[in-house]
Amino acid sequence: MALFTIEDERFQSLILRNAPLVKLADGFAWLEGPVWFADQDCLLFSDLPNDRIMRWTGDGGISVFRAPSGFANGHTRDIQGRLIGCSHQNRCITRTELDGRITILADRYQGRRLNAPNDVVCTSDGTIWFTDPIYGISTDYEGGKQSSELPPALYRLDPGDGSLAIMADDFTGPNGLCFSPDESRLYVAETGRQFGPDPDRHIRVFDVVAEGTRLSGGRVFHQIEPGAADGLRCDDAGRLWSSAGDGVHCIDPDGHVLGRINTGCAVSNLTFGGRNRSRLFICASHTLYGIYTNVRGAERP
Ligand code: MG
Repeated sequence: MALFTIEDERFQSLILRNAPLVKLADGFAWLEGPVWFADQDCLLFSDLPNDRIMRWTGDGGISVFRAPSGFANGHTRDIQGRLIGCSHQNRCITRTELDGRITILADRYQGRRLNAPNDVVCTSDGTIWFTDPIYGISTDYEGGKQSSELPPALYRLDPGDGSLAIMADDFTGPNGLCFSPDESRLYVAETGRQFGPDPDRHIRVFDVVAEGTRLSGGRVFHQIEPGAADGLRCDDAGRLWSSAGDGVHCIDPDGHVLGRINTGCAVSNLTFGGRNRSRLFICASHTLYGIYTNVRGAERP
């Protein structure tokens, strides 16, 4: 199969025809949670079932960044650049301080334990938004079987006062999430039931209202085919780049597919990085890929 599928002529100008899909590292159990550190020219990402966070550097080096990781999944950076992460096993959101200490920012809502935070993003006001499905505590493979105390939900955490608020809870499996570059919209992947077919696997879009403290709407934005959306990222023009069962799909803000990058296997997560944030790093099942594009990732991933 060709590397690119053009669904709309506009996709031609977003890709580089002569840029290869480069295998950067291989042999992992299942990859998740890529986050780019431009100041260190490196990418951190989770090798989830192996309970470790890996580090890839621009000169091609690969090393273990943290093991055990509490079965880390999604990552991002806060507005001060610190690493924010999701731990399945410890059922919490963590922040890695600049001196290396790990602070638990949230592990309970109204006294009950979170399920297994899956993915996380930050906004320009410093708040941290994350999804909390039950996937990570439903098997021993990705964190250990534990009982759920809360329904799946999407949360907003204010690290200033430690307050945690539910932004939406009408999900079966809220998963990857991404704000539009102007933070007027929030996209959330709904992955549905973990086992067996589920017709409710799609990307939803919410309007961000009340100065970033609430959401409205939440309609179905796009149905990924094949597979389901997991991790999501926007480029700086507001196009959404979504993981899919066959690679990465690029979707216009109106929900129309522009094109696909075919990796030949399921993609769980992705992020922009490298020079000018124009290189797309792709967590594709057991392999980390990189590909240069003709777009730039949104400044705040
Ligand atoms: Mg996810």
